[in-house]
Amino acid sequence: MRTDILVIGAGAAGMAAAVSASQAAAGRKRIAVIEKNDGPGKKIYATGNGRCNILNSSCEEAGFVRDFFRRIGLEMKEEDEGRMYPMSEQASDVVFVLEKALEAAGVEMILGTPVSTIERDGEGFVVTAEKLPEKIYAGSVIISTGGKAGPMYGSTGDGYRLARSLGHHTGRLAPALTGIETKEDMKSLKGTRAHAKVSLLKRGEPIHSEEGIVQFAEYGLSGICIFDLSRYVILDDETGFEDHEVAMDLFPDMDTEELEGLLEWRKENVQGIGAEDIMRTMVPGALAAYLTGKGGKSGQSTDISGLARRAKDLRFTASGMRGWKQAQVTRGGVLMEEIDPDSMESKFAPGLFFAGEVMDCDGPCGGYNLYNAWLTGIRAGETAAG
Ligand SMILES: Cc1cc2nc3c(=O)[nH]c(=O)nc-3n(C[C@H](O)[C@H](O)[C@H](O)COP(=O)(O)OP(=O)(O)OC[C@H]3O[C@@H](n4cnc5c(N)ncnc54)[C@H](O)[C@@H]3O)c2cc1C
Repeated sequence: MRTDILVIGAGAAGMAAAVSASQAAAGRKRIAVIEKNDGPGKKIYATGNGRCNILNSSCEEAGFVRDFFRRIGLEMKEEDEGRMYPMSEQASDVVFVLEKALEAAGVEMILGTPVSTIERDGEGFVVTAEKLPEKIYAGSVIISTGGKAGPMYGSTGDGYRLARSLGHHTGRLAPALTGIETKEDMKSLKGTRAHAKVSLLKRGEPIHSEEGIVQFAEYGLSGICIFDLSRYVILDDETGFEDHEVAMDLFPDMDTEELEGLLEWRKENVQGIGAEDIMRTMVPGALAAYLTGKGGKSGQSTDISGLARRAKDLRFTASGMRGWKQAQVTRGGVLMEEIDPDSMESKFAPGLFFAGEVMDCDGPCGGYNLYNAWLTGIRAGETAAG
């Protein structure tokens, strides 16, 4: 089989790349997409809890990406913090418009076919795939196989191997936008949700802070603000997870003196209030008990000033991270310095392009990772066709 452009992986980046290549080529080039799963866009259906937080309005080229989607039939709406969703709130509609656009442009879809190898073949490439008896000869190849996060959606890290076989480097890979496991016994807090400012400390030095809802789990900490902190847990030869702590301020709108004053007032004025209930109604019950040591787990004293300091700086020591299955994104990937950021073309393998999470480029929660997939996919497709 011969094609001018072969897109490997029909996820967000790959579908955007194929649509954009077909628009730029306007029927002058053969374009094919090869995908491991039986259908395209499997991960997209799961994004944003089925609503697909498609991009963030604060992204530099949000208007450009939004326009790309409008022209293939998707309308969007904006919610808190610039999060954009399809107007219908259906992630399936995102896949629907991309599939429709590919079909209308006559892009060939080869599904249920994992790519095994890529090799140079003159000015182009020769690609082999499992379950495909023939080889595919392609003028240009776009690698958009995703990273290692969410392997049940097809992204199992194949793209790194393919990129390395053509001379690229991938650096260290780690799961990100995921829960942080802690050393403390969290059984009594399991299922509790609380608003807090959370800071990641590495050997006592603050690295990054976020504010939002923390979800306590038996293994440790979860919730969007914790996911965003997880991007900053970076291990090297000298640091382990235990060098990282999460410091939680459960009263970010009050300083310690104000909180202490409020607790003193409650102690003096609330009829029948016991030391162990002094925090009750200010934070969820399980957390109030944890802070005062009522559950018998944390062994803390209930003196007012100690309690106020503890509620403003509750520490948890990291013991690990939730793995690839729970992670939303991969930290690390094909090194960005090996790729031209405007064309997405490899700097040393002409005709080879990269798009999406397979590259060393990740963002926080809020639509930034899909935005990266769309934008780099559109750029790669356009240049490959040009
Ligand atoms: C549960 C979940 C929720 C998320 N929610 C959001 C959100 O709301 N907003 C946001 O911005 N980001 C979100 N993300 C992150 C975002 O989905 C990803 O960053 C984005 O999908 C990456 O796009 P991609 O095309 O690079 O990779 P993927 O979407 O992973 O697609 C890669 C494709 O390549 C295929 N493939 C892999 N290897 C091969 C091979 N050898 N041969 C052929 N095909 C192959 C895979 O099957 C897959 O279809 C979420 C992630 C998860 C897991």
